[in-house]
Amino acid sequence: MLKRTEGIVLKSSPFGEADLIVTYLTRDYGLLKVFAKSPRKIKSRFGSSLEPLTYSRIAFIGKEDANLPRLTQSDIIKAFHLLRDDLKCFLGISEMLELSIRFLPEKEPNFKAFKLLLDTLLRLESDCSNKLYYLYYKIRFLEITGYSPRFDACGRCGANGNGHHHFYVSHGSIMCERCVGDRESSIRMTDGTLKFYKSLLKWSLSNINRVRAPEYFLSEVNNVINSHIAYIAGSLKSFSFSNMP
Ligand SMILES: [Zn+2]
Repeated sequence: MLKRTEGIVLKSSPFGEADLIVTYLTRDYGLLKVFAKSPRKIKSRFGSSLEPLTYSRIAFIGKEDANLPRLTQSDIIKAFHLLRDDLKCFLGISEMLELSIRFLPEKEPNFKAFKLLLDTLLRLESDCSNKLYYLYYKIRFLEITGYSPRFDACGRCGANGNGHHHFYVSHGSIMCERCVGDRESSIRMTDGTLKFYKSLLKWSLSNINRVRAPEYFLSEVNNVINSHIAYIAGSLKSFSFSNMP
């Protein structure tokens, strides 16, 4: 059955002599891997549309339970080549793409995640040097996928989190003194950083470029968010391995 949607290329991996496996974040099917026949040959009908970041209208064919549907058409809506060619920006963007690959289940529609990626790329196109965009993307992505770190209350007993500044990565939360074990390690956040994080959540992507904050607020929040993401990614990985037949 032929299906159509729009998608952003997250990754393209060589397969065999001239084929590719392309991973998309799509509007209607969530994370989707498709098989593209011979795109690496000269004069391929896919042209440059399978490069990472390319936003295209695509069509693919495959049975409902087929592992890899086959890509039959891909027409570029936006190539985002400026972002791809700027090495500095592309490093930050790669982290964003990696998040979708690692955290989203395949073929499960997630329009919010798709929209967030597309809207962020459009913003980055006019200013990809603003580090806040990358951080904001991560925070929103965690929110959409239900993996937000917890700063409002103790992760164990639920007591009000005011006045607590220690974030425990293995709990994905701050904790109160009563609940913390002796040997549990934490990341300390300053009062200002916690306030900055909470205020970030109130901004929307369209005006995030108006946020002004000291560099160390940014780097403290970045540190906590990145540690949190790395911890979850690690546990997701072991989870999927332990479920393998
Ligand atoms: Zn507690």
